[in-house]
Amino acid sequence: MTQCVYFFGGGKADGNKDMKDVLGGKGAGLAEMTNAGLPVPPGFTISTAACNLFQQRGALTPEIEAESDRALARLESLMGKTLGAPANPLLVSVRSGAKFSMPGMMDTILNLGLNDASVLGLKSRTRNGRFAKDSYRRFIQMYGNVVLGIDKDAFEHELSAVKKRARAKADVDLGEAQLDEVILRFKAVVKKQTGGPFPQGPREQLRGARDAVFKSWMNPRAVTYRKLNDIPHDLGTAVNVQSMVFGNMGETSATGVGFTRNPSTGAKEFYGEFLQNAQGEDVVAGTRTPHPIADLAKVMPAAYKQLREITTRLERHYKDVQDFEFTIQDNKLYMLQTRNGKRTGLAAVHIAVDMVQEGILTPREALMKVEPQALDQLLHPIFDPSARAKAEVAAKGLPASPGAATGAVVFTADDAVAWTAKGKRVVLVRMETVPDDIHGMSVAQGILTATGGMTSHAAVVGRQMGKPSVVGCGSLQIDLKARRLHVGKSVLAEGDPISIDGATGDVILKELPTSPSEVLQVVAGKLKPQRSPLYQKFEKLLGWADEARRLGVRANADIPRDARIAFAFGARGIGLCRTEHMFFAEDRLRHVVAMILAAARGQRGLDLRSRLRARLQEAKGHQAAELRRELLKVEKEHGEAIAAYTGALKKLLPMQRADFAGLFREMRGTPVTIRTLDPPLHEFLPKREELMVEIATLKAKGASRNARTIAAREKLLRAVEELHEFNPMLGHRGCRLGITYPEITRMQARAIFEAALQVSKKGTPVKPEVMIPLVGHVEELRRQKRIVLEVAAEVLGKGGSGVEFTVGTMIEVPRGALTADEIAREADFFSFGTNDLTQMGFGLSRDDAGKFLGYYQEHGILDKDPFVSLDAGGVGQLVEIGVKKGRAAKPGLKIGVCGEHGGDPASIHFFHGAGLDYVSCSPYRVPIARLAAAQAQLEKPSGD
Ligand code: ADP
Ligand code: MG
Ligand code: MG
Repeated sequence: MTQCVYFFGGGKADGNKDMKDVLGGKGAGLAEMTNAGLPVPPGFTISTAACNLFQQRGALTPEIEAESDRALARLESLMGKTLGAPANPLLVSVRSGAKFSMPGMMDTILNLGLNDASVLGLKSRTRNGRFAKDSYRRFIQMYGNVVLGIDKDAFEHELSAVKKRARAKADVDLGEAQLDEVILRFKAVVKKQTGGPFPQGPREQLRGARDAVFKSWMNPRAVTYRKLNDIPHDLGTAVNVQSMVFGNMGETSATGVGFTRNPSTGAKEFYGEFLQNAQGEDVVAGTRTPHPIADLAKVMPAAYKQLREITTRLERHYKDVQDFEFTIQDNKLYMLQTRNGKRTGLAAVHIAVDMVQEGILTPREALMKVEPQALDQLLHPIFDPSARAKAEVAAKGLPASPGAATGAVVFTADDAVAWTAKGKRVVLVRMETVPDDIHGMSVAQGILTATGGMTSHAAVVGRQMGKPSVVGCGSLQIDLKARRLHVGKSVLAEGDPISIDGATGDVILKELPTSPSEVLQVVAGKLKPQRSPLYQKFEKLLGWADEARRLGVRANADIPRDARIAFAFGARGIGLCRTEHMFFAEDRLRHVVAMILAAARGQRGLDLRSRLRARLQEAKGHQAAELRRELLKVEKEHGEAIAAYTGALKKLLPMQRADFAGLFREMRGTPVTIRTLDPPLHEFLPKREELMVEIATLKAKGASRNARTIAAREKLLRAVEELHEFNPMLGHRGCRLGITYPEITRMQARAIFEAALQVSKKGTPVKPEVMIPLVGHVEELRRQKRIVLEVAAEVLGKGGSGVEFTVGTMIEVPRGALTADEIAREADFFSFGTNDLTQMGFGLSRDDAGKFLGYYQEHGILDKDPFVSLDAGGVGQLVEIGVKKGRAAKPGLKIGVCGEHGGDPASIHFFHGAGLDYVSCSPYRVPIARLAAAQAQLEKPSGD
């Protein structure tokens, strides 16, 4: 039988830090600290495997029960006490702990083993009745809530009543007699709500608590948290049963939490909070305001010194910031938890680079310490400095998670979601947040709470989400019923503007303009790199990433401004320029529309004309005269359309040329992939219904007066109706356009090569890559390529004028991937268009999938949106086939990806493994891609 229960204590543990899968993070940490000889109260961990078994069967097996009993017996003999024994009770905590820490998701029960008899034993043993009774009332409260499912408020209500009668301000002001009354009232609550007495049997209590922890794994807030953080549901949680130490034994006892470095800013400072005469959750619950940890040096200097030594050692041992929990019982320090601390993106960058400089980490190790996605936070806006300087600060809270947030005040998580759905930016204002608020927190711009410290739920979760958060802002008064917020003399209603500065804790009662992040300002050339230590560390880290990674990183950019940002962020090349995006510009759209209106007849006319002209060259006499007559007829019938078509294209040519020249200049000789026209043409035209309404209105206003406009609109309407498609995404688009309207491809190719020539003549090297979209059959590519090569020869001349270019294709139609060998023979490069490849490979319409993809995710059919993170098992196979067949036909074929997936860390890992040469993503994701590519290589090295 495999071991399911792991003991720790007496200087030795069964487990260690590498057993998080089995023991959960907390259990692994307790084992590791025990083995390191640190003062950890002994106990045992019931494994995650037991949890999974419990989920399946609704109970544990007799074998595991027996194993658990043996561990308890061992603990009892080590401690020289028996669980809940009347004279000298062993008391334990029952703590959940999954592989990934889930703050506040599961509940811990303290002081288990107390009952009406053992509480008296505890009292006489410790000669401290107040302490014994306080522990018992806490136990009833926690057990009542977590195991028996009684609302916390029911207990709080009784506690407040007793406090009020005793004129006690805080819990600690209650004496033993009053606590006796609290206990009586609590037991009555249990009786009333469950119909039975509070369970007195210690073993029964232990079983109940353990099973409740297992059950809490599936509670809705835990499930939501896992979904938000991509944590699989089948990991399970472990249960830790640990002998109690007491921070509530009086003023020489305390409990606290801390970090070895500031998790918000990354500064190297000892950071945390503590409370004297308190237990467990008191520090984070926000019911009493904790003291900064530096004060501990004054009240308990020896314990403080030892805590610093231990935590410094732990940081070096784990090579990471430690987030720790401790309790001091009568001046003696105990470690209760240590784990790698969650931090903001900002802090992550500072800490990773600092730790390399301190010799704790190698650059490669440092790269693995930063979540690529977290870099996004460094690009978040900050308040406009001048507006910020002028703004009056109405209140100040704790700066829990940096960043600038501005938006409308909402008071509940549900409102935050509802308002956001209506397109409003909101700031969620709460007394304190609870795990049930997560959905609201994730959509809010920022989070503001009235109570709680730097380690409160709002602070921890805010930092993790990278949300600007200000917590413990004591001067706020929230009237939830009236939906009002009182700040000093001001009163804000729901929807009123508010701004919070998560870096300083300032609260401002108006909307403030925001400006780009510090990193962004450097990148945009508005701030000198020397003046931004943050930027310097950001660049240092990404420089290490560049040394480590094999995958190239390019950007998807259509205009020179985006290209410049992309280059500054480290993109070396453009992987996709969507030419059509420039067509929507106001000065161009009318030419595009003119081109579309004339395209069909114009192209037909051109084709007829050139065919007749060719025949005319060889014809003689009578036959030639006949052909001439036919030519005239074509001219008469199609002349106007030809002129409109070619005329519009001529207008567009210089505009496109200028765009491309700008891109070439910004990208400084790195490759620029330009895709020929891709979307269905009707996207450039007005909607049918809108035109019909417009025409009807014009007619109603005076048909004769508006005759000309009406005629023009009606012509447009006819074109719109002709272009209507039932399945536009599978219709007349991509290379199918360039094949039926070759003049468009010709114009675009001309614009590309003329721009290339122009820029290279000025001394900037250029590397244009012409990319044909939506190729499903090799013949499509062959024909488009022929046109491109013809134009290149015309523009560049036989020698190419020193411009090196390539012609390649997108692989985005499943048939294209399956016949990649044939296609590769015609292509200089491939670029996977994973958006369309997902759409067609999965048969999911990008424009309609929103209606059911959410359901699919909620109900566990898909764990991720395949348009965000590549469906490795399905669509990924098409990529692998494309790579394999393409390179088999053409060894060394250059292959990249230019879909949205190019900026998604999980997908980047996949592309790395599939042997792609580069990924291309939006400019702002370039840093994320650089880091993710490095991590992929470090995790799974592959040759280059
Ligand atoms: P969470 O995962 O929510 O942090 P924990 O299991 O860490 O829950 O418990 C919360 C707090 O309870 C701890 O920080 C500690 O203060 C207290 N606690 C847990 N176990 C013990 C124990 N054996 N003795 C004293 N305090 C404990
Ligand atoms: Mg907790
Ligand atoms: Mg904890």
